[in-house]
Amino acid sequence: MRYNELLDNLKKRGFHPYFASSREEGIKIIREIIPKRSSIGFGGSVTVDELDLVDIMKDEYKLLHRSLYDKSKHEDLYWEMARADWYITSTNAIAQTGELINIDGRANRVAAMLYGPKNILVVCGVNKIVKDINEGIDRVRNVAAPLNTKRLAKNTPCAITGKCGNCLSPDTICKATVIHHHPTTGKNFYIVLIDEKLGY
Ligand code: SF4
Repeated sequence: MRYNELLDNLKKRGFHPYFASSREEGIKIIREIIPKRSSIGFGGSVTVDELDLVDIMKDEYKLLHRSLYDKSKHEDLYWEMARADWYITSTNAIAQTGELINIDGRANRVAAMLYGPKNILVVCGVNKIVKDINEGIDRVRNVAAPLNTKRLAKNTPCAITGKCGNCLSPDTICKATVIHHHPTTGKNFYIVLIDEKLGY
């Protein structure tokens, strides 16, 4: 299979990788991995939205997703998510060498991935595969962040030019860079790689 080397490198680092040839298969795998009635927190993720996971899973699980709560409750919700049974998110980039690269503004997502729920599940399209960590950081700064700042109407150079301007803007969404070389201690860390273009 095309992605064997990546899946092997993830395994060597202690992740539990799965491969799905379609989004339907990916969703089936996710629902098989996570026991029914578990509580699940979510990191902000266009991939999760595109897969329609909240709607698909809402009857079988206790979902802690921003879309299900009033905005005034979101800050409390982030703390509740950190204590959920599971956490589902995507990643900004996944290196062929087996690392995950993520850059955050609020950092509730990367904090949860590092020291939150015991069980983490990252779902990721093959469009996010990069050669190594450096290419991953470049992808976040020049592909993911510009699309996100534009979507969120942030006042940053990348929202206008589509490329990172190494800004110091108060609106920057690049406040913390986290590289997962391995799952952090005590975490069961699943990765479902889907052979489609998903999110950014
Ligand atoms: S550092 Fe600023 S300009 Fe560069 S990607 Fe992040 S938000 Fe955009």
